[in-house]
Amino acid sequence: MTNPYRKRRGPWIDLLLIGAIGFLGAIIVFLTFLSDDPIFLHSDKTSAKEHTITEEASKLTGIKIVTDRSDDKKMPYTVQYPQMDYETFNKAVMTYIEQSKQYYISMMRPQQDSKKLKGDLSITVETFEYDHYYSFVLTNKTIINTEEKQTTIETFLIDYETGDLIDIRALLNGDLESLKTFAAHIQSEMLKNPAYKEYVLEKELAFATEPKWRIFKRFALKDDSLFIYFNKGEVAKPEAGVPVIEIPLSFINPLLASEFQIPMQSENTIIPSNKDSSKKRIALTFDDGPHPEVTKQILALLKKYNAKATFFMLGSRAQYFPGLVRKVRDSGHEIGNHTWSHPVLTEMSHTEIEKEYNSTEEAIIHAIGQHSTVFRPPYGAINEDVRNAIPCKSVNWTIDTLDWKYRDSEKLFPMVKKALHNNAIVLMHDIHQSTADGLEPVLAYLQKEGYEFLTVSEILPYH
Ligand code: ZN
Repeated sequence: MTNPYRKRRGPWIDLLLIGAIGFLGAIIVFLTFLSDDPIFLHSDKTSAKEHTITEEASKLTGIKIVTDRSDDKKMPYTVQYPQMDYETFNKAVMTYIEQSKQYYISMMRPQQDSKKLKGDLSITVETFEYDHYYSFVLTNKTIINTEEKQTTIETFLIDYETGDLIDIRALLNGDLESLKTFAAHIQSEMLKNPAYKEYVLEKELAFATEPKWRIFKRFALKDDSLFIYFNKGEVAKPEAGVPVIEIPLSFINPLLASEFQIPMQSENTIIPSNKDSSKKRIALTFDDGPHPEVTKQILALLKKYNAKATFFMLGSRAQYFPGLVRKVRDSGHEIGNHTWSHPVLTEMSHTEIEKEYNSTEEAIIHAIGQHSTVFRPPYGAINEDVRNAIPCKSVNWTIDTLDWKYRDSEKLFPMVKKALHNNAIVLMHDIHQSTADGLEPVLAYLQKEGYEFLTVSEILPYH
């Protein structure tokens, strides 16, 4: 059967109709692009806009939890987020939610024409109250075609009496030295934590725990502890889930701004409060290495006396001996950065100082997958410019053995003994054979005198 109507109209009418349909189609596409709700771009238009927003009051005063849900065929989502009576807070949360939706779309876009495309975005919120603060922990999970694409965490900490959002800078009173101590602690906690340590991605962890204010963005306060969150797969293999490090506030009390400190005297803090003067401590340090023979001999001697030390390495040498750098670290010693080329930093520009430090960090990270934890400026030459350019603690010495000058194994022990005092930091160099040859009497004497051998970072709190 032929359509009777078709006969009555000429082919130009068909062309006109096709043209009109095409034009209308273009307008619809154009309007869709103009839509201010971009989550529906390219989605199934029949279900577009079918999203529902419900609000319910939280059990905690002043919070409502909003649930925004769409059953879109290709790009459904369920997004939950908190709102309060504070404009700044609400804006910060909404910005995050909008960005998450946008990101979800951008991940779907490459496959948008696939018929079987099916995504899911879920954001759930947990709320914790501590003192007069609320912590919101948002877990953001994206699934594309049943495959989990990403699980990320976002947190908001608000003083609910003032509406102020609290960042890590406020928490640590803006003290960069505190941040350095804090960052190093988070890194070591991840490496020690039985739930994560076998999954840790050391290089990623090193970068995710650099002492920079913008890095520590995800944390919550609850149960007298600070919880630090990482995204799934960010610092550990995905099998480890979402890594969370709990640090009791009492432990970091000395680092906290006064309003976050807790009124208790804890024995166990990140910086020991009771400087036990009955104990004898010493930190041995070896600079300018590593050296393929001398460093190894020194490691063997330190092992014999069960002594820990700190090795301030030059990047220009560490680059050639990554295995030796690892051996130093694996023997329990601390690794410090001593610049790449041993220049006088006080005569250099900010950029040049940073380059000396960063290139050496790269060599160290290449070897051990971790940052160094302390810095020593060559010749002890330091000023404010150098301190500002170096992101970790700069530490000189209290006893100079002058081993670099005498190169005489017989002189090492008398030099140490003459200047010996409690909590001393002793300067030696693991590039001179005479230092390795003269070390044993030093170790034997210190052990006999009851000295505990600490790394530089361990002894610093006593300074
Ligand atoms: Zn040096």
